[in-house]
Amino acid sequence: MNFARFPRIRLGHLPTPLEPMPRLTKALGGPEIWIKRDDCTGLSTGGNKTRKLEFLMAEAKAQGADIVLTQGATQSNHARQTAAAAAKLGMDCHILLEDRTGIEDPNYKLNGNVLLDRLHGATMEHRPAGLDMNAELEKVAQRFRDEGRNAYAIPGGGSNPTGALGYALCALELLNQLTETGLAVDHIVHATGSAGTQAGLVTGLSALNAQIPVLGIGVRAPKPKQEENVFNLACATAEKLGCAGVVKREDVVANCDYVGEGYGIPAESTLEAIDLFARTDGILLDPVYSAKGGAGLIDLIRKGHFGKEERVVFLHTGGAIGLTAYTKALGVI
Ligand SMILES: *Cc1c(COP(=O)(O)O)cnc(C)c1O
Repeated sequence: MNFARFPRIRLGHLPTPLEPMPRLTKALGGPEIWIKRDDCTGLSTGGNKTRKLEFLMAEAKAQGADIVLTQGATQSNHARQTAAAAAKLGMDCHILLEDRTGIEDPNYKLNGNVLLDRLHGATMEHRPAGLDMNAELEKVAQRFRDEGRNAYAIPGGGSNPTGALGYALCALELLNQLTETGLAVDHIVHATGSAGTQAGLVTGLSALNAQIPVLGIGVRAPKPKQEENVFNLACATAEKLGCAGVVKREDVVANCDYVGEGYGIPAESTLEAIDLFARTDGILLDPVYSAKGGAGLIDLIRKGHFGKEERVVFLHTGGAIGLTAYTKALGVI
């Protein structure tokens, strides 16, 4: 793993803090919970896509792109961070938003990430639910190329081997923090969606022989599909890094029991996680990703999945700006 071989533009405030969560730990009665604050990466309220964009935007620049395109659901955190990165680097940004949830609340359609997309100067177009969005993205990118633009298309969630490099590098960052502080960790838990975060983390941890299992809590796909997506991307990422074969199938574990009714629809357990994290250690989760991850963590702790004496790191992938789009579900208005 020699990251200096790949173009990278610094966008994030890194390393992100690694902090204890004493009040949540106490409320749940162990294991000892720590939080890796990737909600604090700094770019336009932060989040996990910033690490991926350091490599993706550098590749776009290296290819001479003048416009980046990406796609996501209406409240995509990835789209918002891409729009901010493009602004910072003086590139245009065009976003394809899928109406994946069918939520009609004006706050959902205009507030939160959508508001920030606009503030960063991104242009947008919309698609109904259920299309192959990466195929739609390619079509739109071609439209810009036909107009003479040098368009760089970033897949949904920034999840390809280039983007996943960001999380392989995060594995190195985390292991360094654990080494410096002498903290032995037994598990890493985080929300998994388009798979790049888990694929990169697992690749990095495997290449470093860290021997810390990663548990992805799914937000959309059923377990077999989610694990297949993560594993395939991890294999491609390992190959890119020159360590092909380092990730074993059994290293990829997802639990998809906390999706509820579907992507972007908060379940009871999602709302409880938002409440509990906010009222114990003052941490803001988001209703689409990190709170489903948090719900999985809470429930698995209650079920005794982790030993009371063990130590768990919850990777906070960000997204709290999305809370302002979900005021109805949160019972605020
Ligand atoms: C995108 C996202 C995730 C999921 O990460 P993937 O790399 O897509 O699996 C988790 N949490 C938040 C807040 C996100 O925006």
